[in-house]
Amino acid sequence: MTETKILLSEDEMPTHWYNIQADFPKPLPPVLHPGTGKPIGPDDLAPLFPMELIMQEVSQERFIEIPEEVRDVYRLWRPTPLIRARRWEKALGTPAKIYYKWEGVSPAGSHKPNTAVAQAYYNKRAGVRRVTTETGAGQWGSALSFACNLFGIECKVYMVRVSYDQKPYRRIMMETWGAKCIPSPSNETAAGRKVLAKDPNSPGSLGIAISEAVEEAAKREDTKYSLGSVLNHVMLHQTVIGLEAKRQFEKAGDYPDVVIGCVGGGSNFAGFAIPFVRDKMVDGNKVRVIAVEPTACPTLTKGLYRYDFGDTACTTPLIKMYTLGHDFIPAPIHSGGLRYHGMAPIVCHLYDLGFIEARAYRQNPVFEAAMSFTRAEGHIPAPETAHAIKAAMDEALHCKESGEAKVIALNASGHGHFDLTAYQKYMAGGLEDFEYSEEELQRSLKNLPRVGNSP
Ligand SMILES: *Cc1c(COP(=O)(O)O)cnc(C)c1O
Repeated sequence: MTETKILLSEDEMPTHWYNIQADFPKPLPPVLHPGTGKPIGPDDLAPLFPMELIMQEVSQERFIEIPEEVRDVYRLWRPTPLIRARRWEKALGTPAKIYYKWEGVSPAGSHKPNTAVAQAYYNKRAGVRRVTTETGAGQWGSALSFACNLFGIECKVYMVRVSYDQKPYRRIMMETWGAKCIPSPSNETAAGRKVLAKDPNSPGSLGIAISEAVEEAAKREDTKYSLGSVLNHVMLHQTVIGLEAKRQFEKAGDYPDVVIGCVGGGSNFAGFAIPFVRDKMVDGNKVRVIAVEPTACPTLTKGLYRYDFGDTACTTPLIKMYTLGHDFIPAPIHSGGLRYHGMAPIVCHLYDLGFIEARAYRQNPVFEAAMSFTRAEGHIPAPETAHAIKAAMDEALHCKESGEAKVIALNASGHGHFDLTAYQKYMAGGLEDFEYSEEELQRSLKNLPRVGNSP
């Protein structure tokens, strides 16, 4: 096999998403109501999400059809290529084979449109006219703006104030696709006004922006809320990545020994890895699966597996997940998409059951790996993606020592064209490494809710 890009035709694109809940040896822990401590039902979520997405959240069906209208939009950039990183292998001098699944070819430049398009579609079908969401650096906001535009839904994005001021390009992208993007905290919600009353110059946070987007959706009949990671239906939609990758490996006559993805809320990792995890869980395959996070937000490697709120303002239901505490504020690293205190329940369950491993890296070694990759392969990865690249590089260098010709597969979740300031700072030697002491981590872990957690 001498090809560099392993491609699928549009006809070979998966027709169904894979729902790993159907194959779990034990079910996911229930989501709890913070007041009563009782499991919540579909009706509790109905003000925020259309019913079809809520049903996907709890579905035990193994394969769920990707609606034709969604596949039709996917065809704009899917199937994405699986690329053999021959030049990088050579540069590293490794006997290992490295493959990367390149999600940077989507219109928004990352894997996020895979779920944004599906969510816009189900909202449209439910007669929803408007959706709200929050965005940090703007990756999710731009993906949802793109998707809503195609389905004729109004999209309003609460963007964290600092990013709104410092990173105008993602905001302009959202506006180009017809969305409304406003800085958070804003005067448009009670949650925003409360923060502004205390601090008119508040830089905002993802937690505040979530509270604003949720408040508006809960308040308005014609408006729902949309989330870009963490939830089960998001993981489901992202499995299109791994299902394609498996077919591509079949074509290449290969199968990975190691599967790698970076984790913020867990969606690109889960989407890529889950079809391979299935082979391990159901067929007893030996594939190693590695989730990579920053030391500045070490959710899986240093957090606790407890019930916690999904947001800082304590407005969401309680979710059992690895968490650093809902009031943990991660250091300002350049991988904005990886700065989340919690993690997708599906990823946490797999970690707890021992099907996946986790490791954390500091940002300077991560950028060093990104430079090595981009100088061999050309593509400039997002700083988030660079975490997966660093782990793949370590595995490949390990193979160099041991002489093993392992097959390493990583998910390249997005490009870094809007993150060039971070590259500039790295090249100028101005990036700071962050790591937390046990004491610092204990501070936010002390504030976990009592409900659901035995003392
Ligand atoms: C948002 C984002 C991430 C992190 O989110 P996950 O849900 O963990 O995938 C990673 N990479 C890119 C390029 C992103 O845009």
